[in-house]
Amino acid sequence: MKIINPTSTETIIELVDDHPERLLEKYNTLQAARADWSQKLLAERMIVIAKFVEGLKEEIESLAGILTAETGKPIQQARNEINGAISRISWMMENVQKYLSPEQMRSRPHLEETITYEPLGTICNISAWNYPYLVGVNVFIPALLAGNTVLYKPSEFATNTGLQIDRLLKRAGLPDNVLQVAIGGADVGKALLDLDFDGYYFTGSYKTGKAIYKQVASKMVPCQLEMGGKDPLYITDDLADVKAVAEATADGAFYNNGQSCCAVERIYVHEAVYDAYVEAFVAQVKRWKLGDPIMEDVYFGPLTRSAQLLLLEDQVADALAKGATLLLGGRRADRRGYYFEPTVLVNVNHDMALMREESFGPIIGIMKVRNDEEAVALMQDTDYGLTASVYADQQMRAVSILTKINIGTAYWNCCDRVSAALPWSGRQHSGLGVTLSHQGIRAFTKPKAWHLIGQ
Ligand code: NAD
Repeated sequence: MKIINPTSTETIIELVDDHPERLLEKYNTLQAARADWSQKLLAERMIVIAKFVEGLKEEIESLAGILTAETGKPIQQARNEINGAISRISWMMENVQKYLSPEQMRSRPHLEETITYEPLGTICNISAWNYPYLVGVNVFIPALLAGNTVLYKPSEFATNTGLQIDRLLKRAGLPDNVLQVAIGGADVGKALLDLDFDGYYFTGSYKTGKAIYKQVASKMVPCQLEMGGKDPLYITDDLADVKAVAEATADGAFYNNGQSCCAVERIYVHEAVYDAYVEAFVAQVKRWKLGDPIMEDVYFGPLTRSAQLLLLEDQVADALAKGATLLLGGRRADRRGYYFEPTVLVNVNHDMALMREESFGPIIGIMKVRNDEEAVALMQDTDYGLTASVYADQQMRAVSILTKINIGTAYWNCCDRVSAALPWSGRQHSGLGVTLSHQGIRAFTKPKAWHLIGQ
């Protein structure tokens, strides 16, 4: 397997994919280690994770460089991601004791009813490349803290980062056989589904997630899927500062080159503020620099995968053929690497793929709406259900709109945001199951109900 630098298009390193026999060996190693690891005190497991965090802090510069080299993520955003992962782990560490300790639900004379949380066993984590630290940490940290052993398959587009995570965990004192890394792409992912894991935790596209869900169904074990989105943003006419909102929401659409599961993917703007919003939005996008992601002042690097360039070109062509107007970009950038110019389209509608299918790139459609009812209908017109955002000075108006939308996360006056304290979950084609929050800690356990009746 070749790891390509999307900026230079040169090969960074060639790695050997794990063949099925090697995957079985890794699986057997993990199975053999589960009893020891699960019987350790939570406090001992927490020491390992605390040391892992120290490693991330000490090596943040070189880790960010590796991430930028293999994904094209601008260096500042690579640092932000690692810092974000550190603060996510901090929340988990502060709360894990509380949520994994036995819970006494009822206590009466001669009767006690208690819940304990037991590890699942050996879990399989098939991961994505767009935020390899963040989406990885959502799974392997609580899984390890809860006493599971973990087969971690980083994306083929972020494998060097996956190997760094493995190295730092082992250096922090994680026994070698408690986490194993699977090297490879889709075929290796598929081969993992043939092994009898005690849970499958996937982050990636709807297409792959659906295939995984189908294939592991008969195993009767937990299968969590964090998948894509087509997240809507609605700008109401109830805003004191349209320009500031346009600038903030442009970042929600274009941060990480639009390659975020919760990136703003389509925008609806009330007709009363439409012109001012579009003008300020385009002006903000023009201010951001496109270039070599290793430079501190670059906001737009290359896309991680060359194949996505074709998808974006198709979405632009389809939208233009159906009457859209291009305000900015619309094509590959004229330079080496997988660059696409930041693209803004207006006069768009829901007949266009741009407004219905995940773009996962630096491209956005902005649509004018007459009122809240029209905005709600359009926001709801999707197969996905990850997040939605409403900007309005009046909280009541925003909450009333967001209550009507079938989503896992609702944003008032913010967007493209994740909190470790809140459940991260998609609905419909965006996902199944929960990471983060207390629910995301317990997602790696099975509850046991104790009915204790004494004399
Ligand atoms: P992908 O589905 O192409 O790949 C994800 C992982 O699955 C990779 O490790 C890949 O090797 C593996 N894989 C591919 N085919 C497989 C198969 N048939 N069986 C088993 N494993 C297989 O997705 P991607 O391009 O890595 O990630 C981008 C997608 O992930 C986007 O849709 C994005 O929205 C989504 N995502 C969602 C979240 C979330 O929290 N909801 C977070 C990040 C990314």
